[in-house]
Amino acid sequence: MNPQQTMPERVLVTEVGLRDGLQNEPTLLGTQDKAALVRALVAAGVREFELTSFVSPRAVPALADAAELVAALRDIQGVRWTALVPNLRGAQRALEAGVDAVVLFVSASQTHNAKNVNRDIATSLAGFADIARLLEGSGIELRGAIATAFGCPFEGDVDVRVVGDIARAFVDLGARHVSLGDTTGMATPPLVSERILHLREVAPTLSPTLHFHNTRGIGLVNVMQGLSLGVARYESSIGGLGGCPFAPGATGNVASEDLVYLLTEMGIDTGIDLARLIEAAQLATQLMGRSLPAQVSKAGPRLTLSDHAAVATARG
Ligand code: ZN
Repeated sequence: MNPQQTMPERVLVTEVGLRDGLQNEPTLLGTQDKAALVRALVAAGVREFELTSFVSPRAVPALADAAELVAALRDIQGVRWTALVPNLRGAQRALEAGVDAVVLFVSASQTHNAKNVNRDIATSLAGFADIARLLEGSGIELRGAIATAFGCPFEGDVDVRVVGDIARAFVDLGARHVSLGDTTGMATPPLVSERILHLREVAPTLSPTLHFHNTRGIGLVNVMQGLSLGVARYESSIGGLGGCPFAPGATGNVASEDLVYLLTEMGIDTGIDLARLIEAAQLATQLMGRSLPAQVSKAGPRLTLSDHAAVATARG
């Protein structure tokens, strides 16, 4: 089959820089700085954010202001705010703060899950039932996220059937959206195909989201593979914020401006204006006080032309 036939016309880009990015950055941002960055992204057309995580403030100081940040953005209309929650207490805090969706997360690797939340996969999934009950009738959407869905830095390959079983458990909890997280950048195009095709078989009601890290430089290649399979939901972080706690010096998520550049050039509608997204990336760079890994925010869109006369003059 010609892959072009299944290419989506429209793609939803969820900005995860405020959560996944900042959680893995040494620089702590204040609530007002985070809010300013969110507003710049909203001005560019971003309509969905994974904004924060209602984890213990002691465990993740970078996200200790979760409720304050949601409150600081309350006046913004037409945007969906999602937040990670690790447990029932976190879900209660997210509910009180007024997010639109909570994301429950578990690793597809026992070792990674134990390191992350100190319990095995089955115990994590069993604990989600209480959260699903809490959310019932609240109007707040329950979503799932599967970390290390393409490989684990401790265990190596991750069996696609484990990913499928977890996805089905999320569907049973009422989830329609589950993201496959490439936590340490181990995804490859064949693994993307294998996982998406398996999910279509075992969890056909699910609309999967792909979440790639650019750790090994093929984040956008994996996006292309997802697009060719018709996947229309991707997560990225502005500037490529973030890193990987298990791979020092590694780059973070696929950068939002690089992703939107690719999608725009492919003729796929994202509702996001690239020039304004680059402005948001420049603000992120300024706030973090360092050069970020994204490329399009440095080079500009492809028809950004150099001033020939100025370059010649500069060369003397
Ligand atoms: Zn991630």
